[in-house]
Amino acid sequence: MVYIFRFHMSAYPKRIDSVTSEAPAGRIEFVSHAPGFWPGVPAVEWDDWRWQLRHRVGTLEEVESRIALSPAERAGIILARNKLAFSVTPHFFNLIAPEDPDCPIRRQVIPREEEGVVSSWEMADPCGEDSHMPAPGLVHRYPDRVLFLVTDRCASYCRYCTRSRVVSGVGEQELHTDFDEAYRYLEAHTEIRDVLISGGDALLLSDRRLETILTRLRAIPHIQFLRIGSRVPIFLPQRITPELCAMLAKFHPLWMSIHVNHPRELTVEVRDALGRLANAGVPLGNQSVLLSGVNDNVPVMKELVHKLLMCRVRPYYLYQCDLIKGSAHFRASVAKGIEIIEALRGFTSGYAVPQLVIDAPGGGGKVPINPGYVLYHDQEKVVIRNFEGKVFEYPEPTAEVPRLQKVEFME
Ligand SMILES: *Cc1c(COP(=O)(O)O)cnc(C)c1O
Ligand code: SF4
Repeated sequence: MVYIFRFHMSAYPKRIDSVTSEAPAGRIEFVSHAPGFWPGVPAVEWDDWRWQLRHRVGTLEEVESRIALSPAERAGIILARNKLAFSVTPHFFNLIAPEDPDCPIRRQVIPREEEGVVSSWEMADPCGEDSHMPAPGLVHRYPDRVLFLVTDRCASYCRYCTRSRVVSGVGEQELHTDFDEAYRYLEAHTEIRDVLISGGDALLLSDRRLETILTRLRAIPHIQFLRIGSRVPIFLPQRITPELCAMLAKFHPLWMSIHVNHPRELTVEVRDALGRLANAGVPLGNQSVLLSGVNDNVPVMKELVHKLLMCRVRPYYLYQCDLIKGSAHFRASVAKGIEIIEALRGFTSGYAVPQLVIDAPGGGGKVPINPGYVLYHDQEKVVIRNFEGKVFEYPEPTAEVPRLQKVEFME
């Protein structure tokens, strides 16, 4: 029998027989990289998140006293001054392997001159957020939920940031969130049941400031579900204090989406911070961006998702890198994204498999991208293939199928 492949098959990767043997076996290692480039700093200071913020690496001199930069990186740091600030916490800077020019940590936070190369399809606001803002700082794209941008600052800056037009305070635009107008909008729109608090990074606000926002949102009866999108547990795990966790626990159900791209980011300190959040009852999901030279290969992604599960974090989304200006050097192909999902699904725990999405350019929202498991589908049947490539048929209930005779059970 010949099946007509009605579904688009062009992104089909090669068979993935080698995947099982690539799985990292045995114990998952968590490493602490402290004190690294900061020897002699007392633990009380190192563990203080405000010390970490005050001692961020942000100038050429501060980097070059620790690692040797390439000319492309030096040019990138100068370019960053009026694009997206360069700033890295000591905790995260220590994860850079100084001898490796292609270090996946380094690629994420050290600017490169390629950021100045803008192709025609790249945009300042690739997800069309500005055109979906009913109040400054509040993005309402989906029917029942909103994105609330409460600050424009982050603990460190990701060079591929989709919001780099407003984040860090030196880019093309400024974020002027109007809190009163946002609360008024939320109160008036009873269809909104889910508020995603993001920025920038909301966990850079003080406990008291954050508590004020959460209290105000919880006072709106139709808002059921609160979540915070944050990279602070990764860049600044010291911020996840017992006091912060106790405060967050007052606002349940409150979920958190963290942002980890490479397994090395899951250090001892990060694992412990995530453990404190999980113990406070905060369900944790992870959003990764598929980044060329960082995590665009199966063994790295497999190690990442397994390590996340060990930290009680469920991989949630894997994003194709948005078409942000100057990000071409970061973008991996959609076929690579599909290949990664295909190499995970069935080969490892279902909980470890994120949903691959493209945030549709211009403001279409997140669109799921899946490997082609449905080979054919009509009113009578669906023809599917499993993770091993074996083909199966499943009948639709509408199909005219011969009824089996009822079986009489005998005592
Ligand atoms: C990502 C996003 C959300 C949340 O989407 P989920 O799929 O529910 O996680 C909401 N609003 C905007 C504008 C977003 O970009
Ligand atoms: S932490 Fe998030 S908002 Fe901040 S720079 Fe990174 S991607 Fe952008």
